[in-house]
Amino acid sequence: MSDYHFPYKDAAFLLNDVLGFEQMCAEAGLEDINAELATAILEEAGRLGSEVFAPLNTVGDKRGATLGDNGVQETPGFAEAYQQYVDNGWASLAADERYGGQNMPRMLAAAVVEIWDSSNLGLSLCPLLTTGAVSALTAHGTDELKAAYLPDMVSGHWAGSMCLTEPGAGSDLAAVTSKAVPAGDHYLVTGQKIFITWGDHQMTENIIHLVLARLPEAPAGVHGISLFLVPKFLLDEQGRPGERNDVFCVGVEHKLGLHGSPTCSMSFGDKGGAIGYLVGKPHNGLAAMFTMMNEARHGVGIQGLGVSERSYQQALAYAKDRLQGTRSDGSRFPIIEFPDVRRMLMLMKSATEAMRGLIYIAAAEADRTNWASHPEDVSRHAARTGLYTPIVKGWISELSQEITSYGIQVHGGMGYIEETGIAQHYRDARILTIYEGTTGIQGLDLVGRKVLADNGETLRKLFDEIQATADDMSSVQNLAGMAAALGRAVQAGGEASTWLLGNAARDRNAAAAASVNFLMLLGYICGGWIMGRSALTATRKLESGSGDEAFLRTKQATAQFYFEHFLPRTDSYLAAVRSGSDSMMTLDVSQF
Ligand SMILES: Cc1cc2nc3c(=O)[nH]c(=O)nc-3n(C[C@H](O)[C@H](O)[C@H](O)COP(=O)(O)OP(=O)(O)OC[C@H]3O[C@@H](n4cnc5c(N)ncnc54)[C@H](O)[C@@H]3O)c2cc1C
Repeated sequence: MSDYHFPYKDAAFLLNDVLGFEQMCAEAGLEDINAELATAILEEAGRLGSEVFAPLNTVGDKRGATLGDNGVQETPGFAEAYQQYVDNGWASLAADERYGGQNMPRMLAAAVVEIWDSSNLGLSLCPLLTTGAVSALTAHGTDELKAAYLPDMVSGHWAGSMCLTEPGAGSDLAAVTSKAVPAGDHYLVTGQKIFITWGDHQMTENIIHLVLARLPEAPAGVHGISLFLVPKFLLDEQGRPGERNDVFCVGVEHKLGLHGSPTCSMSFGDKGGAIGYLVGKPHNGLAAMFTMMNEARHGVGIQGLGVSERSYQQALAYAKDRLQGTRSDGSRFPIIEFPDVRRMLMLMKSATEAMRGLIYIAAAEADRTNWASHPEDVSRHAARTGLYTPIVKGWISELSQEITSYGIQVHGGMGYIEETGIAQHYRDARILTIYEGTTGIQGLDLVGRKVLADNGETLRKLFDEIQATADDMSSVQNLAGMAAALGRAVQAGGEASTWLLGNAARDRNAAAAASVNFLMLLGYICGGWIMGRSALTATRKLESGSGDEAFLRTKQATAQFYFEHFLPRTDSYLAAVRSGSDSMMTLDVSQF
């Protein structure tokens, strides 16, 4: 057993009371999916998370994966835990029922994934990548490939991996040099990939690598990259894993954190070529891979939430236990009574609540995209989902750095000592702003593809909705101050986007220089939106005498705190956006 527990009340409140999960499912014709079922699913997942995954988290940190004669050997206990996850059907929760999935809403799946991430970030990365690979294959694979590979990937019996990065191609995937040459009904893939998460292990019967490579005569740049499915074991006549394919792990990295997740150097085709199959159209591989990357970016946002929540729970327990104050009568009191420790705990608590809310909002939008039938609705919801993706990934992963750092600070000197375990969350979180596209890349995606590309239209509609929440709040007496603050934050967002739209064409550095500040600005506004909606719902429920009073008052307090301590950051991000690129770019490289 561990001391981790999923915050059911907050999840249920956000899903059902604030965001109308049940009604959304009913509107989509999924009447059998309701709040009661969601609670039962979360409780069951919570048990596996707390009792099985969480106790293995420190084991993964201390005894990371190793490379031996039989390939990568994962942390002891991980395979058994993963098997329970598969046996209980968790791998297929949100997958398409055509391939054995349970077709559950993404909103509910996102809530469940927080449990795996909080309880064991390293182990849960394996299913995160499989889920992304399933989405890419579902969207872009041929019927034959789907029939052969998806059922076992959906069930979790086979895992997936994502093979993009090469020594010379990181953020700039245009530089990918791996090759694929046609050979009858398949291709022979050769090349080196580095930093491949869960690129090899013994937990599953097969590993299905999705690999970016170039066909002969492919044009240079991103428009010459294709996507290939390369299985670790080739399928035999019965469709079961048979002969070993020519793809091997040749090294496992030593890392700052996330030791439970093997980060592998993979060699394709040392013995003549790894057999692979084209996914999607030739030279269109990056577009196909984006299906996986977008899914994974949302997943990394959930990781930021999960690790922050775990760090918060541990810091809270320590703060209640550690005696450092002495009262006038000589009795001692715990550090949780000091205002500054309260400040840190409230920052941690209100940030995780805002992160959770934003993740559910984004997942609900992805559900609406899947469920919409009219093409106009599909593109509207898809555009909004696309807008949320870099914010969820970038803002939450950046904020998780601050939150897990407070986890250490609350522990004082013991926070710096590995024995307490709190430092693991900080070390584990550090990768989240880097993989699946650094925050810099998320900023560029947000500004370039999601704002400038449609002249700010999708963002304007989001701001209108947030302003409508502020208007609703203003009619409730004790929320009027918060309503005004949310309105000012939306205005700051509007001014920042006007600045971007006005300056991007004139100065080619302007948009890029502003992009991360702009992303953070939008993150804090979206956080204010969900915290404002939470405060509104809590107040209305209290007025009507329904719900758990103590919990609802807690929600009012965390919202108030968010508005006082996080939302004002929007002013400084707006100022930074407006400052442009001059001071940033003025030094000659030799002046650094
Ligand atoms: C633990 C771990 C797991 C990983 N898992 C996988 C995996 O499963 N599959 C996979 O394919 N890869 C994986 N990666 C690779 C990861 O996605 C890359 O490290 C990441 O995309 C950054 O690329 P890079 O390391 O080459 O850094 P670089 O691209 O060299 O970036 C260095 C710095 O320059 C900045 N920069 C680069 N280009 C730009 C630009 N155009 N504009 C602004 N700033 C820019 C970056 O933001 C960063 O700050 C993993 C990496 C690690 C460490």
